Order: sequence, then C-alpha cells, then structure tokens
Amino acid sequence: MKKLPKPTDPAGKPYDAKGVFELCVSDMSNAELKKKYVAATEDIVLAAKHYDEAAEKSELHSIPLGQLAGVLTKEELISVYTYRMVRQERPGRTVYDALLARVPNQRCPLCGVGGISSLDHHLPKAGFPTLSVVPNNLVPACGDCQDAKRSYYPKNTEQHTLHPYFDDFDSVKWLKAGINQSAPPSFEFFVDPAAPVSPVTLSRFDTHLRVFKLLKLYASNAGSELTGVQGQLHRLLVNGGAEAVRDHCLEVADSWAQVSLNSWKSAMYTAAAANDWFCQGGFLEGND
Ligand SMILES: [Zn+2]
Repeated sequence: MKKLPKPTDPAGKPYDAKGVFELCVSDMSNAELKKKYVAATEDIVLAAKHYDEAAEKSELHSIPLGQLAGVLTKEELISVYTYRMVRQERPGRTVYDALLARVPNQRCPLCGVGGISSLDHHLPKAGFPTLSVVPNNLVPACGDCQDAKRSYYPKNTEQHTLHPYFDDFDSVKWLKAGINQSAPPSFEFFVDPAAPVSPVTLSRFDTHLRVFKLLKLYASNAGSELTGVQGQLHRLLVNGGAEAVRDHCLEVADSWAQVSLNSWKSAMYTAAAANDWFCQGGFLEGND
C-alpha cells in the first residue's frame, strides 16, 4: 500500500475537475449534445468539491448514490469516461495516461504488489456517475484489486477503504504478521490492535485488507518468499546460529519498512525475527 500525491498534470499543476471535464467533452461534434454536457459542468464541479471535502474527513459514505448532473443520464455521464477519457486519441486520454504514469515503479498503491493496469473509480462510476472523470476519484490500480473491489462503496466510516490521495496510512506501523509453526511454516497477516490510531482507523485498515483480499495475497507471497530464502537462512544458521538468522531478518524487515512501513515483507521478516522456533531452524520444516 502506498500513498500518492493528488493528481497533477505532467507539468506538476493540480488537475481540476472543471478543466478535465471540459477537455473530455471538447471534441464533441454534435453541437446539441455538447450543449447538454457543457451545461452540466457546474454540477460536476460541485460534486467534485463535495467529494474532496468528504474524502478529507472519511465521509465519502455521505455522498448520495445515483446523483446526476444537468440533464445528463447516468449512461451519458459514464460515457464521458468510457469514450472520452479511456479511448485512444481523445483529448481526455492525455489525463488518463498522465494519471497512470505518475505511480512509482508502476506498483499498485492499493495492494503494493500488482502492476498498474488501469484507473479505478474509488467511488464506482455506476453508483456515482458525476464522479466518472473527477481526477481525485481516479486511482491507478492493478487488475486484481479492481476485480476484488468491483462496485464496493462505503456505507459508514469504518467501511472506507484507504484512499491513496487522501489518507495517511503509512506513518504508523499497523500491519503485523504471525507464524504458524507448521511444516512448512506459514504466515498470517492482521491489523495490529495496539497500533496508535483510533478504533475507527483500525477498522478502516481491516476493511481495506478484506475488501482487496490482501490477507490471502500477503500470506501466499510470504510462503513463496520463504521458499526462495530457505537456502540463505540455512547458511546463516549453520555459520552464525539462530542469532545470525534473527539479525538478517531484522535487517530485511527494516529495509522494507523504509520503502513502506506497512509492506508485507517488513511485517513478515519482523515476525520471523521475533520467533525463536523459526530462527532456530523452524524455517526449514517441510523442506525436503
Ligand atoms: Zn493492487
């Protein structure tokens, strides 16, 4: 999971909802139709303003479902995204490409694992069509995260998933892992109930992990990671004992924490370092 700065154009200027909507509808050839869209601009701007205010306060659930703009239908509003922002060679495509291009290493900010595939509507466009091309509602994401979320939207504060543009979710450590002493060992991830945040924020972390199915993803990644490093850990154990294994795990945990305090690798290696059974050779269990 990774926080992102709010959307800006390639020159670093913030994208505003008005400019992006006007750009998307700028090449409409049907004058009558274009008039309808232009007349809806102020409603789009107002919706974007309410969205920003609500997102800052984790109150996106207060935005009414199915709100429209001007005389445009839900389908007409969604079509601005589908045909005038996503489609190649449309003026709005420049915004689409710019939003995708600004993500470090093209890594999905929602899971921190998958590669970016397209833009996700944080509040889904089917339920919130006025936000179809509002930049702050468009988050670059991987295909798995988009499949997992689908038309999900929050109905109360606790149900908010983390918003990479608005939420501060990486300044305290809250993702933890535990080890099952099995053969092979397996890792389980969870939200640290002792993390120094409010109960509502803890619930939001939990919501995020569950909506995007990250508990299973991180457990699977940790299992695969362990398979890859068993030989290295074994050499450390033979040459330096459990202490060398522990020191190495702490070092890796620290290194990943510098990338992201709540990276699954940091949580995994922190759990490994804290587990005597693991460091004394438990990591080899089930390794034929
Ligand atoms: Zn993802």
